[in-house]
Amino acid sequence: MMTEYCRSRIGSEWLEQGHVRDIRNPADIDETIATVVLAEPSEADRAVRNARSGFDLWRRMPLMERSHILLLAARNIGERSQLIARAISREQGKILTEAVGEVQRAVDIFSYFAGEVLRMHGEHYPSTRASTEIEVVREPVGVVLAITPWNFPVAIPATKIAAALAYGNSVVLKPSEVTPVSTSMLVEAVVDAGVPESVLTLLIGDGQLGRALAQHPGIDAISFTGSVQTGRNIRRIAADTSAELQLELGGKNALIVLDDADPAIAAQIAADGAFLGTGQRCTASSIALVTPGIRDLFLKHLRDEVCRFTTGDPFDAEARIGPVVSASHREKVQAYLERGRAAGYAVTTGPAPRSSRPGYFVVPHLFENVDPDDSLATDEIFGPVLAAVDVNDLDTALKIANRSLFGLSAGICTHSLAAVQKFKREVEAGIVTVNLPTAGSEPHVPFGGIKQSSHGPREISAHAASFFTRTRTVYISCVPA
Ligand code: NAD
Repeated sequence: MMTEYCRSRIGSEWLEQGHVRDIRNPADIDETIATVVLAEPSEADRAVRNARSGFDLWRRMPLMERSHILLLAARNIGERSQLIARAISREQGKILTEAVGEVQRAVDIFSYFAGEVLRMHGEHYPSTRASTEIEVVREPVGVVLAITPWNFPVAIPATKIAAALAYGNSVVLKPSEVTPVSTSMLVEAVVDAGVPESVLTLLIGDGQLGRALAQHPGIDAISFTGSVQTGRNIRRIAADTSAELQLELGGKNALIVLDDADPAIAAQIAADGAFLGTGQRCTASSIALVTPGIRDLFLKHLRDEVCRFTTGDPFDAEARIGPVVSASHREKVQAYLERGRAAGYAVTTGPAPRSSRPGYFVVPHLFENVDPDDSLATDEIFGPVLAAVDVNDLDTALKIANRSLFGLSAGICTHSLAAVQKFKREVEAGIVTVNLPTAGSEPHVPFGGIKQSSHGPREISAHAASFFTRTRTVYISCVPA
């Protein structure tokens, strides 16, 4: 296959200067799939000015025209689905069917926000003063900086771009330098739909570029998805610049399995939640809290699931998960596996990788009877690793789940309505699932967590307007001055 060449673009100018980075196929590290020119941090100023110059044009565009462009963007992405999905699989490593699902998600998000363009509305109030009326109108925030991670290189940028554009903002997108190819294809599909080049700027670079952009006084709002550490850095910067801030960060998502659940179904839910996407999902369930009455049977089914979870090349139809994304990430995950083995926990591992190519493969691991204070049970590992923890009852399970510094998603498997009600009320998470994996989201409902997992207004759905617009309050005297 051809090696892609990936660059940034400011307006109509392609950036050719900068450090060059090879993007390797994580399923076959001998294969270079792209060469990317990383934009220098010194380009931040030009990029932000370019976005500023597009803002007025875009916010004043007739709404129906803006809506049609977003709808056309959805169509373009859909028509290029196979190409984009293949690029995701080749640079990020997720299996092709998951990559196709990710692209479809981008299509759905753009379609949804094409409709939201026409639903933007304000409020009207009577005044406490005579002959006076009050309007509360919504306006775009201005120039939005979107910084995105490598695990969903199309769906996460799409989430931020579609919402920002729908509400009339211009965007500077700084995607992960690890997976720039598929994100570039997404941006191309959106620009080809008629979004002016001054309205959507793609600047590919590393964390230093991200920092330079975040520090720029011309940025009105920052929507960031990534690690807790980077989120903290950006939060400090935004405190100085007063940019609006939306952070979607890590998670350690618990799945509680109660005695009355169906053990086979619960095991399937636990395995899918933990291992799909090679566990590299912020909403993956990486800790299962299991009560005594179901423990043995649940673990028996779960071990069977793990043994069926095949790792391999993303294009191998028999593989259910691909490699992890990079050498450094594999090292990080393996350090947890070694810790688990050293602690002496019973462990079940998935079958050896089906591929003979040198890739960053990590097979699924299930550790049993893990100490709830062990780092296996508390840290975001971001790999195909599930820690099963024994608990006496729902109260203990909730206590352990809520001890986490994170609060993104949490799930329960049970038939008890009373248990579901208690769990819904008491678990500390922004997303709650019942008899479903903890992972996954839909475009018409809000997404986000609490505690260290998120900060600021929710993503996607009509709730996105809280972040991508600001209100202006207008008092009007009906008595002519
Ligand atoms: P990361 O924080 O290393 O990088 C994310 C982005 O930030 C990249 O584009 C990177 O170049 C940029 N960046 C790095 N340092 C920066 C700095 N100092 N200033 C500005 N930008 C900087 O995260 P990652 O490894 O790419 O992604 C994995 C993390 O993302 C995991 O913790 C995962 O849980 C999280 N994540 C969260 C969600 C969610 O919705 N909550 C979704 C996906 C991933």
